[in-house]
Amino acid sequence: MSRFLSENLINIKPYEPGEQPRSSEKWIKLNTNESPFSPSKNVKNLINNYDYSKLRLYPDPSCYSLISKLSDEFKVNKSQIIVGNGSDEILAFSFMGLCKNGAAFSDLTYGFYPVFSNLFNIKTKIVELNNSFEIDINDYKGLKETIIIANPNAPTGIELSVKCIKKLLESDKDRLVIIDEAYVDFGAESSIKLVKEYDNLLVIGTFSKSRNLAGARIGYAVASEEIIADLNAIKFSFNPYNLSSLSIDIGVEALCDKEYFKSCIEQIVSNREYLTNKLEDLGFEIVKSKANFIFVRPLGIAGKKYYERLKEKGVLVRYFDKTRTKDYVRITIGTIKDCDILIEMTKEILSEVGR
Ligand code: PMP
Repeated sequence: MSRFLSENLINIKPYEPGEQPRSSEKWIKLNTNESPFSPSKNVKNLINNYDYSKLRLYPDPSCYSLISKLSDEFKVNKSQIIVGNGSDEILAFSFMGLCKNGAAFSDLTYGFYPVFSNLFNIKTKIVELNNSFEIDINDYKGLKETIIIANPNAPTGIELSVKCIKKLLESDKDRLVIIDEAYVDFGAESSIKLVKEYDNLLVIGTFSKSRNLAGARIGYAVASEEIIADLNAIKFSFNPYNLSSLSIDIGVEALCDKEYFKSCIEQIVSNREYLTNKLEDLGFEIVKSKANFIFVRPLGIAGKKYYERLKEKGVLVRYFDKTRTKDYVRITIGTIKDCDILIEMTKEILSEVGR
């Protein structure tokens, strides 16, 4: 810490992203929930034919072309959408400006929420998940804080039904509920359809997972016109050109390729079921996931040891060294070949430890 750091930031606890090894060749990378598939061919064509002189100019600060395309996709008005530099940026804006009564979220969820709470000095209520890692919406009864729910949740992959979300929205119409749908496309139900009916709902999504574009940093949010206006006021007070021109164009192209989007998701869902079954055959406990990852408790070896041994063998998964998660690892769903290698490595590791 330098002597110049502001007093209010002395206690910041930065988010720790999963490892991003510099050379990816050596690794089977199943640790940060990226897609194992390339972005759409449309994106490839765009980049191959890109008029680089466009980069001389600032991008369109309203991101009009991308927002128009998203408005067709989600069947909401353009004034009900904002895009961000990854959904992390929109989450940051939301914590910064839409948590006037504080924030409430689960004890086991996306690790960035407590980081934002801390950064923006927000009074925070942690609501424990039940023993099966599920959200009980009754636990949120009477809370005035803005509620933030990842649906499906991370790192568990468990879905909260739209019916429950509706109940939550109904139970206090003066309280904002933020649903972070980073993983919704892998088999869960989106709450975007509720935005028409509820002006206390903000749904946030990303192109990083189901659209295979983590490197392009494109996130979006859908809500009432008023909430989006608030988020825009924050954006224009912070970074008006928050998406590069290239990312705006990439987002549009990706949205045009519906077939590819669908086929990538189908493969991930099928690989998820395949890997789940294979690991269950080895006696592992797998949390029922609707995301592009599974949360796994290995049998016969500690979570940490399993993670470390996999890493030594060139397979990166994610380990969270906290009380409720220490027996588990989170494995991103890769290609079928990645799954087979992981299964082989797992068998080797288990035989090494005498199982
Ligand atoms: N929400 C959740 C639940 C996530 O796991 C992630 C990815 N780490 C994000 C949001 C952020 O994704 P991005 O900024 O790449 O859109």
